[in-house]
Amino acid sequence: MPGETRTAYRTCPLCEAACGLELTVADDRIVAARGDSAHVFSHGFICPKGAMFGQLSADPDRLRRPLVRRGDRHEEVSWDEAFRAIEAGLGPILQRYGPQSVAVYLGNPNVHTMAGGLYLSPLLRALGSRNIFSASTVDQMPKHVSSGYLYGSPLAIPVPDVDRTDLLLILGANPWESNGSLATAADFPGRLKALQARGGRFIVVDPRRTRTAEHADEHLAIRPGTDAYLLFGIVHTLVTEHLVDLGALAGHVTGLTQVGELAKAFAPERVAAVCGVTAPRIRGLARDLAAAPTAAVYGRIGTCTVEFGTLTSWLVDVVNVLTGNLDRPGGVMFPLAAHLRPHARSGGKGFTVGRWHSRVRGLPEVKGEFPVATLADEIETEGDGQVRAFVTVAGNPVLSTPNSGRLDRALGGLDFMVSVDPYLNETTRHADVVLPPTDPARKGHYDFSFLALAVRNFAAYSPPVLPADGSGMDECDILARLTLLVTGQGADADPGMLHEQMLEQALQRALPAGRTVAELRAMVDGTHPAERLLDVALRTGAYGDGFGARPDGLSLARLLAHPHGVDLGPLRPRIPEVLQTPSGTVELCPAPIAADVERLRGALDRERDDLVLIGRRHLRSNNSWMHNVPALVKGRDRCTLQMHPADAARLALTDGDDARVVSRAGTVSAPVEVTDRVMPGVVSLPHGWGHDLPGIRMTVAAAHPGVNSNVLTDEFAIDPLSGNSVLNGIPVEVKAAGRP
Ligand code: SF4
Repeated sequence: MPGETRTAYRTCPLCEAACGLELTVADDRIVAARGDSAHVFSHGFICPKGAMFGQLSADPDRLRRPLVRRGDRHEEVSWDEAFRAIEAGLGPILQRYGPQSVAVYLGNPNVHTMAGGLYLSPLLRALGSRNIFSASTVDQMPKHVSSGYLYGSPLAIPVPDVDRTDLLLILGANPWESNGSLATAADFPGRLKALQARGGRFIVVDPRRTRTAEHADEHLAIRPGTDAYLLFGIVHTLVTEHLVDLGALAGHVTGLTQVGELAKAFAPERVAAVCGVTAPRIRGLARDLAAAPTAAVYGRIGTCTVEFGTLTSWLVDVVNVLTGNLDRPGGVMFPLAAHLRPHARSGGKGFTVGRWHSRVRGLPEVKGEFPVATLADEIETEGDGQVRAFVTVAGNPVLSTPNSGRLDRALGGLDFMVSVDPYLNETTRHADVVLPPTDPARKGHYDFSFLALAVRNFAAYSPPVLPADGSGMDECDILARLTLLVTGQGADADPGMLHEQMLEQALQRALPAGRTVAELRAMVDGTHPAERLLDVALRTGAYGDGFGARPDGLSLARLLAHPHGVDLGPLRPRIPEVLQTPSGTVELCPAPIAADVERLRGALDRERDDLVLIGRRHLRSNNSWMHNVPALVKGRDRCTLQMHPADAARLALTDGDDARVVSRAGTVSAPVEVTDRVMPGVVSLPHGWGHDLPGIRMTVAAAHPGVNSNVLTDEFAIDPLSGNSVLNGIPVEVKAAGRP
C-alpha cells in the first residue's frame, strides 16, 4: 500500500555467515537494513555488505528482462523469445555433437539461493555432460577431498566449535573480514573476542597481517603455500613427544601408525626454514594444542588454494584427531542441519575420484566435476568432445578463475553460450542469451549449504520480502525450463511439470513406513515449489515433525512462525554415525593422500621463488559480486599491490608507484602500497576486480575497475588430488611500469 512502512526479517544471502537482517520496507522498497537483534544465531550483527541488501536488490544495473545478443550488442527480449533463442542455439549443438559438447560453470552464489540448492542437480542430470565445472575447484575442493577420504563423505566438514574452544589455531583464513568460510559463524569477530574474554586464545598463521591476525594473541608469518610443512612439524612433535591422545575417538580411528611414519620426514628443525616459522615455535604449537583443555585447528582459503591443498586440508584434520579434538565440544564438530537426517549407522561406500577424466589434460573428475583450470583447454582444443556451448549459472569465471585472460578469449570462440545471471558482466558479455533471475528481496531463502556448516545448529526460513513485480523470472522456473528444454520438451514447456515431479520424488525418498505419497502430498505446505521441497526436507529431517509423528518438530510452518530462526542447540558429537568410510572409522591415512606426501617431501629442498603473489579479502567485498554498490566501493582504492618495505626498497618502488606484475600467465599494472602487513618476499592483490572489459553493464564497478589478479594466476598450477587451482604463492616479477 502506498505510504505503508513495515518491518520484514530476512536471512542475509551475501556471504556464508547467514546473519538475520531487519529490513524496513516502504512503498515496496527496502529503505533500511540493520542486524536482527532477536535472531537466534547472529544476535543483531551485521556487516557493511548486509547493510546494502536493499541497494543490491534495487541496483539499476540489475537486469530485469532477458537479453539476446545481436551482433556485438545485447538487446532486451521477452522470456519466450529468450528460451526460443536457447532452443535454436543449443538444440542443434546437442543433436550434432552430443551432451559433452556443452559445458556448465556454476558460480558460488548458487550456494546462496534455494534454486541453486534444489534445481541444479536436475539440470545437470538432464544435460548429461561430464564437462561440469564450478567455483569449488577455485577455492575449496581440497577440503571436500580430504573429508571424503577421512570420513567417507566430501560434505562431512567439521567446523571449529569457536564458542566453546580454549585455543583456536587459524591458518590461511581471515574471518574478521570474511565472517567465516566453510564455518558459518555470524559475527565471527565477536565470537573471537568472546573466546579471549573467557581466557582462551587464538593464533593466526598467515603471510599477511590480516585484521584477524591484528586481533590475535599471536600472529605467525608463514611463507605462502607451506602450511603443510608447519602442520607436519606439529604432527611430528605430537608423535615423537608422545602427546597423541585420541580421547573419545579411540576405537574410531585407523591409520594412526602410518601417519606417524609419514611424519618422520618433517621434524620441525627440517621444515622451519621452508615455512619461515622457527622449530621451537612449531614444537610449542604442538604442545599448546595437546595441553589445551580443548583446541581447534581451522584452515581455509590459504590452505586450499595452494599446490599442496589437499595435503594441507588433511593435516588440519589430522592434528585435530591426534589431539582428541575431533568431534568433541570445544574442538571441531560436525553440524547437523535441519533439512538433513543423520545416517542410520556408520560405514558406507566411501569416496572415490577419477571415475572419468578430462579429454585434453586427462585430469580426474572430483565430485562429478573437472578442475575449472582446464575449462579453456576443453573449449580451445578441437576434436571429438570439444566444448562448443557453455552454460553459466551465477558465475563470473572470467574474473575468478586462473589465467582468466585465456578463458576470456576462449569464451569468444564458442558457438553458443547462455548465462543465468542478473548482470551483464565480464563473463556474461560473451553470452548469446542472458536470463536474469528476480532480485533476492523477491525470493524466499533457506541456507541449504551453510546450515550444514554452522557452528551452532539452527534453522531459519525467510519468505520473499517484496512481492513479485514482473521483473526477472523466478530462478526455480528458469532452471526448470532449461532442464525441460535440454530434455527436448521445448522452449515453452511448463516448469510446473518439473516442480511436481521433484516434489513427488522428494516424498518418495523420504516416505516414512506406513505412509503413502498421496497422504503426505496433501499435507505439504508452501506457496512456492522451493518452499514445498523445503517443507518435505524439514519435516523428514533431523528435527522434523515427521508429518505429524512429532508435533513439536520442525516444518515450514514452524519456521514461518519464527522469523528470527529456531535455535537447535550447540553442536553435538556425531561419531560414529557420521563416518561413511568403508571401515566405518576415521581413515586417517588414505592411500592417495599418503602417496602425495612424497611430492611434499621432494619439495623440501626446492629453491624458493624471490617474490610470490597472494590474494586478499576485504570486509566490503565478496569475490566480484559487490562492486556495483557505491557504498561498498567508495573511498581509497583497495585494489593495490601490497609490498613489504624491504622489497619495495630492493625494487626501487615507492607508495603509489604504478607497478607492472608479470607471471607466466600474464601481466597487470597496479598501484604499489608499501606496507609491513605482508612479509618480505610476498606481494598481495585482492581478487574479484578487473571491471574494465568492454561490453559490461555495471556502471559503478566500471568506474572502480581495479585489476584482475587472475590474469596472473596459472591454469597449469593445480593441486593434483583435488584439481583445485593454485591461487596463492604464484611466482611473479615486479617492476615499475615503464621500466625495462
Ligand atoms: S557477514 Fe555476511 S551474512 Fe552477515 S550481514 Fe555481512 S554479508 Fe550478510
